[in-house]
Amino acid sequence: MSKILFAVAAFMANLVMLAATATFSMRADTAPAVELKYYPYELKLRHAFNLATMSRTTTPGVQVEITIDSVTGYGEASMPPYLGESVESVTGFLERIDPARLADPFAFERIHAYMDSIAPGNRAAKAAVDIALHDLTGKLTGRQWYQLYGLDTSQMPCTSFTISNDTPDELLRKLEESEPYRVLKVKMGVPGDRELIGFIRSHTDRPLCVDVNQGWKTPQEALDNILWLADKNVLFVEQPMDKNDTEGHRWLRERSPLPIIADEAVQTSADLPALAGAYDGINIKLMKSGGLHDAYRMAQLARSLGMKVMIGCMTETSCAVSAAAQLAPLADWVDLDGNLLIANDLFSGMQIVDGKVTLTDLPGIGIAKRAEE
Ligand code: MG
Repeated sequence: MSKILFAVAAFMANLVMLAATATFSMRADTAPAVELKYYPYELKLRHAFNLATMSRTTTPGVQVEITIDSVTGYGEASMPPYLGESVESVTGFLERIDPARLADPFAFERIHAYMDSIAPGNRAAKAAVDIALHDLTGKLTGRQWYQLYGLDTSQMPCTSFTISNDTPDELLRKLEESEPYRVLKVKMGVPGDRELIGFIRSHTDRPLCVDVNQGWKTPQEALDNILWLADKNVLFVEQPMDKNDTEGHRWLRERSPLPIIADEAVQTSADLPALAGAYDGINIKLMKSGGLHDAYRMAQLARSLGMKVMIGCMTETSCAVSAAAQLAPLADWVDLDGNLLIANDLFSGMQIVDGKVTLTDLPGIGIAKRAEE
């Protein structure tokens, strides 16, 4: 009897081994087909966007879809003009990608090294591929990326809502629209900036973030403005001066009563060590870092350098914004309103509920494509 049982067990074990061998050889012989699709998609802004240097009503973008074994991951490149990328530069970069090199979509280090070997820059294009691969791999594992990172979503920060300067009537309308948000963001370094802050302060005491976009010319001018802001419930001041003026920012930080955050001065994790001591924190954006892979590294590195972490975005659909939101539990502050500023969002995803970033329960980067209208 025991001999028969042994023979059956041995037979079963052989079957299992055979099955395992068959599966292995199938995988080795046939790498999955990878489909890489992309198309330009212009983002239409709900209100004109006014910065220190320009004003605009649209932002060029490129949508990316990567499909393996009938699972599709979505990604996006957004190209505000000051980043130096365009629809042509992004699609030109994507054309040079061999989809077969994406066949192991979990191999982020190798894929980024491959993309860097094609061209050193093009970070919006790289972000689009990186985001699509994160969406895809999350879907393949049935998990959202904040879960794969092991992050605690009970610690989600509030997000800010940007108010750009306008006529008093329009400003009142924008303030009404901003009601769900607990933090407001204001651009300075533009004509009428102090009047705008005065107007907002006469209507609400909600905390303000100030973004100067390099608009102040000297450390003394920056300090004078920051001292004026100091008693106005301002959380921090972003990129007061030229991004290359690290020493000017170091001088300013030593004297400033408000935290100084680097935005234009920091693109990737490689920029970060040189900025420690010159800024209190960094604003991480996927279009600067080339996607989530380096953005996560930036957040960890900033923490280890004792710096604050902010997660921001460009004008983007809910695709890239929801990808960035995966890192929100790592952030002290979040500025993820890019999808709310556009009128033609292709996706639903991360939402702001009671002023806080709230993720969906969909795997990947937590998005669903909206039905075609
Ligand atoms: Mg900024």
